Amino acid sequence: MRMPDPLVARLWEPLWDLKERSVRLQTYRRLRRRQFDPPETLRQRRVRRLRRLLDHALATSPFHRERLRAAGIEPAGVNDVADLAGLPLLTKADVRDHLDAILSTAYRREDLVEAKTGGSTGTALRVYCDRTGVQRRQGAALLADSWSGWRLGQPVAAVWGNPPRPRSLRNRLRAWLKDRWIYLDTMHLDRPAVERFVAEWRRLRPGLLYGHAHSLFLLAEMVADMGAELRPSGIVATSMMLLEPERRVIERVFACPVTNRYGCEEVSLIACECERHRGLHVNAEHAYVEVLRDDGTPCAPGEDGRIVVTELVNFGMPMIRYAVGDRGVWSPEPCPCGRPWPLLARVTGRTADFLRALDGSRVAGISLIENTLTRFPGVAQMQIVQREPARILVRLVPGDGWEEGVQERLSDVFREALGREMGVEFALVDAIPREPNGKYRFSICELDGEVADRDA
Ligand SMILES: [Zn+2]
Repeated sequence: MRMPDPLVARLWEPLWDLKERSVRLQTYRRLRRRQFDPPETLRQRRVRRLRRLLDHALATSPFHRERLRAAGIEPAGVNDVADLAGLPLLTKADVRDHLDAILSTAYRREDLVEAKTGGSTGTALRVYCDRTGVQRRQGAALLADSWSGWRLGQPVAAVWGNPPRPRSLRNRLRAWLKDRWIYLDTMHLDRPAVERFVAEWRRLRPGLLYGHAHSLFLLAEMVADMGAELRPSGIVATSMMLLEPERRVIERVFACPVTNRYGCEEVSLIACECERHRGLHVNAEHAYVEVLRDDGTPCAPGEDGRIVVTELVNFGMPMIRYAVGDRGVWSPEPCPCGRPWPLLARVTGRTADFLRALDGSRVAGISLIENTLTRFPGVAQMQIVQREPARILVRLVPGDGWEEGVQERLSDVFREALGREMGVEFALVDAIPREPNGKYRFSICELDGEVADRDA
């Protein structure tokens, strides 16, 4: 028999934290209480945390100590992340090559929680976080989940590549006791799997549907096809490739707004939409975000730049000015919800996946696809791959209303954005190929040179 949702929220969840000595729920409740605090209160709290992190890094991380000293940065004199402008960015190459020196000497390696990044743009990275930091991250994720309409205690349905198998006995015990999750493995997203998922859904009635954006879209199409009615209280789409046309399909099929969320393994949750869906709020209590031009100066609202994150809760492996490898834009308008947490209008794509036009400028492939998907009804899905400077390959899944002439018209649109002489080659496929980690990429730039290398 299944425990009622409110009982899980009030009894089981707190008991679990107590047993684990976890600050997860405590963090969630504090964040929830403080989310509408005045901007100045938030600012002071962030500065205190930033100084604490810098103090800690100076004292216990040889890598950061050297850099902070070279830049002449005194934690006590730092009043904003802008005061770290003299500090070089922490790149993926730094994390790969100087891991031992970045890790804090205040922790034993075996006491840290290890994670590996997918590495679909290059080498996989190993990163670490201290246990309290992990719990704080989980607390922030709970708050972001709650913005979607989900309530603590409601079961969760995840659409994910490689569903985590409970590894330890303790985790198995937890999974069995809670029985609050169902998974749909995106590696096997076929009709029988979706039918099983729908049957489990009817048994468990999840409040949250959670997964990679494009996988949620594929699920939505199959669910619509089956005529099944699944009604979650909230939908969270992770990874930045939430295409507007796909978002509309997901929202229609599940009769529920999609909450777009942005994060990565290295610094966890970076930004998330609130219930107003006017952009993504930076996870401000736990992180600073900078959006930078190529020359390192901050972008103005509306201006596209590199996303750089300083996470405030990981003391095991301080991540200071980490270049995530994505690009984004600050929103020119504040969110009407009233939360003072900074607002990204959108994440525009991975740095490495911006296509390069013939004149050398960068073009967000995701935007190209979004704009064309809606204008050409015969096109169900698309992926653009650039391996040579003067040629792109467009993998295209034909949909209803497909006709041959579409290719010519699409080529014109792409040439307009990328240059008149750009070669455009089409490959008609049944589905967009998946990355080994179960995610999808719609725009892939495999050119050698500055664009891809900057974050390597
Ligand atoms: Zn808001």
